[in-house]
Amino acid sequence: MNIKDFELIYKKNRVNIKDKARIVSRLSEIVGKQNVSTSEIDLLAYTKDTTLLTFNWAIQGKIAGLPDIITWPDTVKQISEILMIANQEKIPIIPYSEGSGVVGGAIPIYGGIIIDMKKFNKIIEINDTNLTVTVQTGINGMNLERYLNFKGYTAGHIPQSINISSLGGWIAHRAAGQFSTKYGKIEDIVLGMEVILPQGDIINFKTIPRASTGPQLDKFFIGNEGTLGIVTKATLKIWPYPEKRTFISYAFPAIENSFEAIRKILREHIYPAVIRIYDTFETARHFPDVENAKDGIMVIFVCEGSSKLVDLEESIAREKCESNLGVDCGKHPVEHWFETRFRVTETSSMPPYKIVFDTLEIASLWENATTIYHSVLESMNKVKGMLMITAHVSHFYPNGVGIYFSFGGVPPKGKTDLEFYQECWDTTIKAVIEGGGSIAHHHGIGINRSHWMDKELGNAMHTLRQIKKLLDPNNILNPGKIYVDTWKRGEN
Ligand SMILES: Cc1cc2nc3c(=O)[nH]c(=O)nc-3n(C[C@H](O)[C@H](O)[C@H](O)COP(=O)(O)OP(=O)(O)OC[C@H]3O[C@@H](n4cnc5c(N)ncnc54)[C@H](O)[C@@H]3O)c2cc1C
Repeated sequence: MNIKDFELIYKKNRVNIKDKARIVSRLSEIVGKQNVSTSEIDLLAYTKDTTLLTFNWAIQGKIAGLPDIITWPDTVKQISEILMIANQEKIPIIPYSEGSGVVGGAIPIYGGIIIDMKKFNKIIEINDTNLTVTVQTGINGMNLERYLNFKGYTAGHIPQSINISSLGGWIAHRAAGQFSTKYGKIEDIVLGMEVILPQGDIINFKTIPRASTGPQLDKFFIGNEGTLGIVTKATLKIWPYPEKRTFISYAFPAIENSFEAIRKILREHIYPAVIRIYDTFETARHFPDVENAKDGIMVIFVCEGSSKLVDLEESIAREKCESNLGVDCGKHPVEHWFETRFRVTETSSMPPYKIVFDTLEIASLWENATTIYHSVLESMNKVKGMLMITAHVSHFYPNGVGIYFSFGGVPPKGKTDLEFYQECWDTTIKAVIEGGGSIAHHHGIGINRSHWMDKELGNAMHTLRQIKKLLDPNNILNPGKIYVDTWKRGEN
């Protein structure tokens, strides 16, 4: 099969690269011939990220986007020079790390040059006094965490995708790990960064625990999704590997009781590393054998750290669960979660049955959380073709939560899978906005949410566009993502 045999989904705005051979030769001078490719097999490997709909497309012989050239630089200077060429020639650049993003962020919808970051995989220094690790951002997440564990530390950032994602991708999408209630999200963990701007300038933000030096410009590049800069190096907080880890689980009669219990725990300034609430549908799916949780809500906790603190966290967590109608389910449900926490085989079993399946996460203050949960379920159940809509809640703050919805359905007659998919996303997001929540908790914007950004940010979106124009006047860095003005929805 050749590339021309695949149907290309995002094709309308593809940039026509004039004289490709000359560009390839210029790139080869920078990174070496062996680190540039236009071979079909390489181009095919970069046509998608892990947006689940692209798996449906794959078995239908469709590809999402099509890059023109792949590059594998290994120095900051090389990336800077590639960006300068891209500006001269007006060619899109797409930073690509592990491709585990699920919102289309790394899909080359305009074509262009892929900068694959995987050669930026070095751990530069662990500093025990400062409790930091300095590392290049192309490193695979699990390689970093295993190395830290071997040396007696953890970074505490353990996303479900840790085996298939990188530090650069985490920073780009403002990721959140499963242990985030204790260790924080990636923006809490990053202390310093090196960033290459769209026109090739290199910025080094100093590693410092905190500073009062004007607006926090470094944080501005966290969550930029490869549209404002390429992050090449970062210094992260690390922690001594936990001395003790405890598993606790409780079943509740209704989601409201579980929310109340967790809210009360966090009000005490107690932060179990992992807290996960499963609604009745997900409890039945993941914990069918737990008698006490039948038709109820399962909540699991992992408390970890120094022994005395873990004991205190456990006793306060138990007290709050029990005073909110929680029934102790022992440690086995948590052991089951711990063993299977990186397994996602369910999602890949759907496309052969023509089921469009996806997940999307949102954020809410406590006061709106249950309303948003119920209204998303209610509105999604009205979408024609919907088979299931369920949720779990896995990120918590004293002030609110991140809710993670999963849906699956079969497009009704007359609707393409993309139209059905967009209807599901729009239905959920509309309910979230009406309920006072935020449209994204940790997967980012990419393509899927870009047309909601004006609603989400209001006037601030205008400011963000101005900044994008200032930093990237030729709109070469990951065009078509976040700022919908560069990619008109439905035109592709
Ligand atoms: C099974 C599964 C489970 C997941 N679980 C979680 C989870 O628990 N928590 C969570 O937060 N996310 C999760 N995700 C989503 C995904 O893993 C994250 O979005 C991750 O941060 C993406 O990293 P990546 O290296 O794969 O980035 P990619 O997919 O390669 O790129 C993502 C975006 O970042 C940009 N980018 C990549 N590298 C750089 C760089 N160095 N500088 C600037 N921009 C860059 C790309 O252009 C793109 O826009 C999950 C995904 C899957 C498939």
